Amino acid sequence: MNLNIALLKGDGIGPEIVDSTVRVLNKIGEKFGHSFTFTPYLIGGCAIDATGEPLPKETVDGCLASDSVLLGAVGGPKWDTLPGNLRPEKALLGIRSALGLYTNLRPAKLYPALKNDSPLKESVVAEGFDIMIVRELTGGIYFGERGYRQGKYGEEAYDTECYSRLEIERIARVAFEAARKRRKNVISIDKANVLETSRLWRKTVHEVAKDYPDVTVSDMLVDNAAMQLVKNPKQFDVIVTSNMFGDILSDEASQITGSIGMLPSASLGDTSRGMYEPIHGSAPDIAGQNKSNPIATILSGAMMLRYSFNLTAEADAIEKAVDKVLNDGYRTADICHNDGVEPLSTDEMTERILSCLD
Ligand code: NAD
Repeated sequence: MNLNIALLKGDGIGPEIVDSTVRVLNKIGEKFGHSFTFTPYLIGGCAIDATGEPLPKETVDGCLASDSVLLGAVGGPKWDTLPGNLRPEKALLGIRSALGLYTNLRPAKLYPALKNDSPLKESVVAEGFDIMIVRELTGGIYFGERGYRQGKYGEEAYDTECYSRLEIERIARVAFEAARKRRKNVISIDKANVLETSRLWRKTVHEVAKDYPDVTVSDMLVDNAAMQLVKNPKQFDVIVTSNMFGDILSDEASQITGSIGMLPSASLGDTSRGMYEPIHGSAPDIAGQNKSNPIATILSGAMMLRYSFNLTAEADAIEKAVDKVLNDGYRTADICHNDGVEPLSTDEMTERILSCLD
């Protein structure tokens, strides 16, 4: 395949972790006979410095013309005092909306080699866990009608949750398709004992499930899910849930892996073009020091191969290389807690992963 990838390196550690990922993708290209053309565009603080705005039109047009988008991270103290519409983070909402991305895939994987990083006790995480959270990204209470009014007790504020059958159906399909590429189990999380939107959610998910007889589906109430994630995370394969529940549960799930530098994510829409990025920020405290962990971004590159281009063997190869490097005991500083182990730099960790792809 010949693929055009837009690179949004962004700020802080963004450029170094994206560069590492480009090296890994080029290696995959050589090995499997694909060619990748990478075109960089400005986003975030570096775009503000160069053009006065966090998301220049050229960036949006470049992403729309690409086959997929790889993002590092945006933001940093230099731009923290700018007004809201000029903040680097504003560019993230803008680019997701311009690309029509309504699904967020957030894997939370605890590698057995990193089980000591998890705040959960050994007996719960001994075998690791591997969860994929599929979160609806553009609907629900974050986008519903809201406002202030005078009520029985004076001033009050309100937010409303609204979900259409179409919005639920399309996110459910993403979850079932993702499950087909994994362990074929979907748990749909809602609050159907209280919320009308959740009752429509539950009904619609089960209607969609009829098209996926090879995938098992069950429901879980969100309060129970919050408990089950820390009690028995291994029971989850794919979770599908609404915007707000997904926001909260995906942060809980990432915390129980214990290592922010390891977790990739994907935002998807109706086309095969997605946006792939690590879940962490621009880490200004370590930017430019060759200390950052590139794995979350490298795994985001693997997700791009799997979800945008259907290159399963290629994605597997990257994930296996990461597994091997960790099992061999190599660590960057953020995941290095053993006094006897010298942490690797960003470049050294990248080299280790590349050598496992030989
Ligand atoms: P952060 O994720 O950047 O950093 C939190 C801590 O984790 C820091 O100590 C950092 O050094 C460490 N860390 C993060 N990624 C790492 C990696 N790959 N390797 C090693 N260590 C890593 O969160 P923050 O400090 O709250 O935010 C910093 C900036 O990033 C802010 O401007 C924030 O708005 C922005 N941000 C951007 C995104 C994004 O671009 N999607 C997401 C979150 C935060």
